[in-house]
Amino acid sequence: MSVIQDQYGRTFRTLRVSLLNHCNLGCVYCVAGDSEVKAANTMHSSLPVPELLAIIRRLHEQLGLSTIRLTGGEPLLFQGLTELISGVREMGISSIKLTTNGFLLERLAMPMKQAGMRSINVSLDAVDEDVFYQMSRRHAVDRVIRGIDKALEAGLEVKINSVVMRGINEGQIIPLLEFAFSRHCRIRLLEVMAMGHLHDQAGRYLFSQEEMLAVIAGRYSFKPLGRAGSATASYWQTDDGHQFGVIANETAPFCGDCDRLRLDSSGHIYGCLSSNHPILLDKEEDEGIWTKKLQQALLQKQTLRFTGSDLSMLHIGG
Ligand code: SAM
Repeated sequence: MSVIQDQYGRTFRTLRVSLLNHCNLGCVYCVAGDSEVKAANTMHSSLPVPELLAIIRRLHEQLGLSTIRLTGGEPLLFQGLTELISGVREMGISSIKLTTNGFLLERLAMPMKQAGMRSINVSLDAVDEDVFYQMSRRHAVDRVIRGIDKALEAGLEVKINSVVMRGINEGQIIPLLEFAFSRHCRIRLLEVMAMGHLHDQAGRYLFSQEEMLAVIAGRYSFKPLGRAGSATASYWQTDDGHQFGVIANETAPFCGDCDRLRLDSSGHIYGCLSSNHPILLDKEEDEGIWTKKLQQALLQKQTLRFTGSDLSMLHIGG
């Protein structure tokens, strides 16, 4: 195993794999107009399972990964998902997680659990059907909730992620918390990030951590729990014992201890969400070249501020 570390002591321990860059929703923070939604909903090619497993295995050998998160695009659309999960499990990477919009979860929760998945994040930006549609451009809230219930029934740990956008869904903060608390799930509210088509205008939609806490304080009393090292969310606990988190990329960035490496669906790595400089990993190259490429990716990490990039999370993986 080679030691890859930057001057701030950061290294890569978590790998986020974007399995494909298409999706069955068209969320407003990922895609802009009709043509982009159409492109996002169109099937594109992605790496086959054996090739993906070979890349992940080599990265694990070089980095000693502790966590893999499968994402996309929408990872539940990936052909061979359960085979991939079992393959990663066999490598001895104990923490294997996935982020999904939940649209196909009702059917896939149990097979994923049986393949070795333990924990999933489900993106749910509203529990009101109309607001859900405004955020995702699809009428699917009941279906996603059925998926969440199925996943809980299957024994998966479920966390809810909700992006809060000013003028669209900030009125859903309390209903989302109530929903998550009713299912005993942790929920994290995300500040909208300056990614993709929002790169220059995320500020317009930004509903800050401070504003979210002020809304929550109108309904609950809570105390801070802080943020664990290299985690994305800070947590609070309500007086009746429910926990919620905020991922405040914009107003309280946490780049200083970031340990995430990203792999996209064509075999490129990125050391930072804010870098639109893909580095292609070629399976013919030897370990020395991969080490240099990983060092190059590590240099992409930012230090003080999250700047984002014009690459949508649909491609780099959320
Ligand atoms: N399709 C899956 C899903 O919806 O969970 C996984 C991929 S999606 C890109 C993952 C998550 O990235 C979204 O649900 C959202 O939480 C986050 N995301 C994407 N673009 C974002 C943005 N501009 N600001 C904040 N979060 C964003």
